[in-house]
Amino acid sequence: MYLKSLKNQGKTIGFVPTMGALHKGHLSLIKMAKNQCDVVVCCIFVNPKQFNDAVDFDRYPRTVSSDIEKLKAVDCTVCFTPDKDDVYPENFTPVNYYNDYLFENLEGNFRPGHFKGVVTVVARLLEIVQPDKAYFGLKDYQQYLVIKDAVTQLNIKTEVIGLATVREPSGLAMSSRNALLSKEEAELASVIYRALLLANNKSELPEVIEKQCFDMLENAGLKTEYFNICSADNLKPIKNWTDAESYIAVTAVKLNRVRLIDNLLFS
Ligand code: AMP
Repeated sequence: MYLKSLKNQGKTIGFVPTMGALHKGHLSLIKMAKNQCDVVVCCIFVNPKQFNDAVDFDRYPRTVSSDIEKLKAVDCTVCFTPDKDDVYPENFTPVNYYNDYLFENLEGNFRPGHFKGVVTVVARLLEIVQPDKAYFGLKDYQQYLVIKDAVTQLNIKTEVIGLATVREPSGLAMSSRNALLSKEEAELASVIYRALLLANNKSELPEVIEKQCFDMLENAGLKTEYFNICSADNLKPIKNWTDAESYIAVTAVKLNRVRLIDNLLFS
């Protein structure tokens, strides 16, 4: 109702969907939305449908009151904290979208059903908020590609904007899950960024570099699910450096019980 009246006054609405435990990465999205739109809505909702592991869902950090303070500090207009029944009412029908490659590979391979859950919640939140622009982090690059494609295919009238990853001084990508790491683990995890930097070494074939980076992570004690060098357009593997104009190194690791993902774009 409130958003509708603002829209009727010709105000533009920027939307930042999150799962809370807000950090500077999230706040960078809010700040950009503030720069580009009249009104900014941040949603905090830990979406059960995108967790393929019940323990991961239960352990996910939830810090709503400190999140609200952070949103006030950056002058976010609206904080939307729906509960499960608001997002998924009884008669709820998910949108019909599937992406063969992105749903099945990399994150999709290790987290079956994850992207279906992501598209379901994002499409539903876009339906509720009806924003002009929605902001997503390139930290979740595969998610960004999925959402961009889903919004196009489903004919949703929101512009999808992707923004660069915000990192700790050590290079570790900011993530709500970092709150689950000990100080020592967080220090150790900075090897992820060093491995990603190493991926821009064109003196060997991509598959050789992938193996070196994978081994670097494993040798540091991280259980590495994948380390791949792919086309930045569609995340398909590249055999030669000339196969793609811009490429991206993507990785997922487990550090004890905490799963971390990161990537680095090269052109
Ligand atoms: P999440 O709360 O983890 O679902 O993330 C909400 C949004 O913030 C997603 O679009 C993420 O890609 C984005 N995000 C998470 N971490 C970062 C980061 N370090 N830098 C920029 N954006 C981020």
